Amino acid sequence: MRIYNTMSRSVEDFKPVSDEMVGMYTCGPTVYNYAHIGNLRTFIFEDVLKRTLRHAGYKVKHVMNITDVGHLTGDGDEGEDKMEKSARESGKSVWDIAKFYTDAFFRDEEALNIIRPDVVCEATKHIDQMIALIKRLEEGGHTYIAGGNVYFSIDTFPQYGSLAKLKLEELKSGARIEVDSNKRNPKDFVLWFTNSKFGNQAMMWDSPWGRGYPGWHIECSAMSMYYLGEQFDIHCGGIDAIPVHHTNEIAQSEAATGKQWVKYWMHGEFLITEKGKMSKSSGEFLTLPVLESKGFNALDYRYFCLGAHYRTQLQFSIEGLTGAANARKGLVERIARLGGTVSAKPGDAARAYMDEFDGFVFDDLATPKAMSVLWNMLKDENVSPADRLYAARYMDRVLGLKLDQIRPEGDSSEFPPELMELIEARTKAKKEKNWAEADAIRARIEEMGYSVKDTPQGPVPVKKV
Ligand code: AMP
Ligand code: ZN
Repeated sequence: MRIYNTMSRSVEDFKPVSDEMVGMYTCGPTVYNYAHIGNLRTFIFEDVLKRTLRHAGYKVKHVMNITDVGHLTGDGDEGEDKMEKSARESGKSVWDIAKFYTDAFFRDEEALNIIRPDVVCEATKHIDQMIALIKRLEEGGHTYIAGGNVYFSIDTFPQYGSLAKLKLEELKSGARIEVDSNKRNPKDFVLWFTNSKFGNQAMMWDSPWGRGYPGWHIECSAMSMYYLGEQFDIHCGGIDAIPVHHTNEIAQSEAATGKQWVKYWMHGEFLITEKGKMSKSSGEFLTLPVLESKGFNALDYRYFCLGAHYRTQLQFSIEGLTGAANARKGLVERIARLGGTVSAKPGDAARAYMDEFDGFVFDDLATPKAMSVLWNMLKDENVSPADRLYAARYMDRVLGLKLDQIRPEGDSSEFPPELMELIEARTKAKKEKNWAEADAIRARIEEMGYSVKDTPQGPVPVKKV
């Protein structure tokens, strides 16, 4: 398998740190608001990555954090804690806010068929690990205390900025007027706040430096090393994490251990709208429930995202999503027509498509090309329906479009008995030329989420997708 490593800016062969398992850490949501569909694009990319690694035969341990403290409204330690702000504005407690939006996030993940990480870790439950890491940095001479806060001194870590290819001298001279005069270097960042700008902060813990709360970046270093060890394989996030968040994570982790921390850095490009990047802080964003309320299925959005490579920007539009929804409907119908028999062992023609598919996904997750292989295979009359079904399910291990749950056309065993009774009643009404009755029954069938298709074998229900 080959993947693009942001650190080297090139596609590299994937060689895991250990033969036993692949350690993968993905920066999770900040739970002060709903995840927007831009955030979800990044989580879909990470899910496809995990599925592809598994498909390639690796055992993957996936850890994802939930940021429920410490993420300020500005990336450079300025502003207010996002959770506190959201709590103040809504009149709820920070803990209620965190629970509400964490639950909403996992509902979205489930709807998108994103496999739940093996470990989901909340920042607020790992304060001890963060304090231990800050102590280690302090012992190594990487910190200083100013104005009551503990800072990381980037001048003690010469490789600072290697991920983002930051040119530090330029940055220094060109830096904007620094709001935090405690910083020795404008790029220094807070590890522990005791001098909260907001005295009534709800989330505070005792620490060797006084009662306070952690900086945003320390949670990912502390929790990833706690669950995956001091060196692991892959760390992911959206590209906006490169210049500050991931840069600071690397500084903290590698300054503490004195060795390389993460082998491969992978970043998902943005989902954009006509107005530019979709962001939570701008307040203008679309959520999955909003798309669902417009009649889309969450999987339509997954399909839409798979149609673009994760390293290219993707522009969202309702027309684009409608196109994806129609394509997915066509895919579902095509698979339903293949019947219910899956080959035990596919023939050479199907195998060739499966290999072609693997070639694309194992080459830095080329999902758009992989999707066209799926379509070509399904259209190929030289491949038996049972082989096509086998190959579609094989490919879906990576794509995650729930293709294995599509019932064959006309298969009544999966349908609710009331539905089958209604269909029988409709047939009877039609035979008796009672058209009004037949139409009324059809309306009830539609209400249940089905339509009726008349086939040579008689009428069969079709689930609306
Ligand atoms: P947050 O909840 O703000 O911490 O963001 C969760 C994830 O979404 C992070 O990995 C971000 O880098 C990513 N992200 C933020 N905005 C976008 C966007 N417009 N498109 C794709 N990913 C994004
Ligand atoms: Zn992180």
